Amino acid sequence: MFVDKKTGVHLVLTGAPGTGKGTQAGVLKRELGLCHLSAGEMLREEIRKGTEIGKKLEPLLAKGNFAPDELIIEMVSKRIAQSDCDKGFILDGFPRTVLQAEALDEMLIERDIKLDAVIEIVVPDNIIIERILGRYTCVKCGENYSDKFYKPEVAGVCDVCGGTEFSKRIDDTCETIEKRIQKYRDVTYPTIKYYEQKGLLEKVDGNGNVGVVAERIAKVIGQRNAEIC
Ligand SMILES: [Zn+2]
Repeated sequence: MFVDKKTGVHLVLTGAPGTGKGTQAGVLKRELGLCHLSAGEMLREEIRKGTEIGKKLEPLLAKGNFAPDELIIEMVSKRIAQSDCDKGFILDGFPRTVLQAEALDEMLIERDIKLDAVIEIVVPDNIIIERILGRYTCVKCGENYSDKFYKPEVAGVCDVCGGTEFSKRIDDTCETIEKRIQKYRDVTYPTIKYYEQKGLLEKVDGNGNVGVVAERIAKVIGQRNAEIC
């Protein structure tokens, strides 16, 4: 993957569950040295560290509420100012609302950063379902595998830790997966529209193996950089 840009690469990565978003974020992080800012992980870290934000969040999340926009915004704003984000970042799980997207615009203006693209990984529903149903996890180390796309090199033996026991999520049924996909669409629709109107949205076909999809994403980033440099 080749991207040449002095100011770094700044992306928002989105996609329904099962589109391979997390895996692609990992590839971008490794290949481009970007920091992967997962909103979910940031929330858990604030709570674990017992920060001011964490203390406000814990009771809300424990009740099953969404984290309020202003706390999420404060948290992300603090995080992107850290030096490991100097080469750029991939935002994942943020922004979730138009208000968050507008706040992100302001943060970026303040830091003189331009968002390169909002990449939505798109995979047809039937394939998402097939993928999620084909997922299994190493019991020992938690590495995720897939019947079709990512099998261990030696069948039945984990590549990472050599474990031989694997588990599947029992709540993964066609019905619950369809619900999760629909929920993703309902929640993200206004934000996706927001970026579409700004000309930042790039839909990337997420059908195929990890390397093929990673190349499609790299191509989009390369084209975007060519346009703005
Ligand atoms: Zn393992």
